[in-house]
Amino acid sequence: MNKNKIDEKLQKTAKGLLESKAVNVVIGWTKGSNPFRMRPVFITKPEDVNKLYFNPHCVQDLAVFLKKPEVKKFGRTGIVVKGCDEKALNTLIQEYQVLRDELKIIGVECMGVIRQNIADKGESNLLETTVYDKCLICDVHTPLIYDYLVESDIPEIKISGSVKPYAKIKELDSMLVEGRDKFWQKEFDKCIKCYACRQVCPLCYCSRCIVEKNMPQWIDTNIEETGNAQWNMIRAYHLSGRCIGCGECERACPVNIPLMLINEKMARDIYEKFGYRSGIDINSKPVFGTFSESDFNEFIK
Ligand code: SF4
Ligand code: SF4
Ligand code: SF4
Repeated sequence: MNKNKIDEKLQKTAKGLLESKAVNVVIGWTKGSNPFRMRPVFITKPEDVNKLYFNPHCVQDLAVFLKKPEVKKFGRTGIVVKGCDEKALNTLIQEYQVLRDELKIIGVECMGVIRQNIADKGESNLLETTVYDKCLICDVHTPLIYDYLVESDIPEIKISGSVKPYAKIKELDSMLVEGRDKFWQKEFDKCIKCYACRQVCPLCYCSRCIVEKNMPQWIDTNIEETGNAQWNMIRAYHLSGRCIGCGECERACPVNIPLMLINEKMARDIYEKFGYRSGIDINSKPVFGTFSESDFNEFIK
């Protein structure tokens, strides 16, 4: 992998932080198992910073690691973030889960992340490149908060044809309740309760998840219609007003449930009704942690 300017600056910044002992670890991305995969890496020694890279395959939201005891034990932490990941940091700070003073935020300018798959096109297999939907509506290409900014020299990703991210939301909104119910029931029926969506989410950090509480048993843990719907709906409610739309839950889901349709729908409704966007303003109070007499309350009848 050739080193470009963005990698040089990233590595130099991380080296300075580790050498000066401003941080004890830097969380970033490194090469993965093939040229289309990058993976998280934890750098603790200045001599290892040359393992850090950034490119459009750096899809993981590294903020998820900040709540892990194995990472917390390091204390002061440096973390490399794209704009969407940085929104997760903001929410964690708002919710008193991480201390801003303990963090050194290395923001990277990001023009979008992509997935590359071998697409089965009949006789010939083609390499198919897809930009994640979240990137097509992104307005945080430059992270909102950072201590160091690594500007991008990666060209903008060109999209061919007309792509309408999250177009299904409008279609679902136009359906009667029965139609929406049928759509989601079919999707949730696929759920195998692996909880990958929870594990990868930077904002699912309860020490004991509601699905693991059995006195009383709030959620049926069997893989069947009622329990699957309960799990997915309760998780969506727990993330409403908090989800920053990093898309990691949907990416991790092994059965391809379109979880971002729920997340994006929730985010749009909350913005429309309360004028609130999660992860944007570190000094604001979480939307469901505050009350105003002027709040939308048509649902209380
Ligand atoms: S949503 Fe924005 S910041 Fe996040 S990966 Fe896509 S382009 Fe980058
Ligand atoms: S619910 Fe999904 S999109 Fe939202 S913050 Fe968690 S992982 Fe990211
Ligand atoms: S990742 Fe997908 S299959 Fe696994 S629990 Fe979540 S929704 Fe269900």
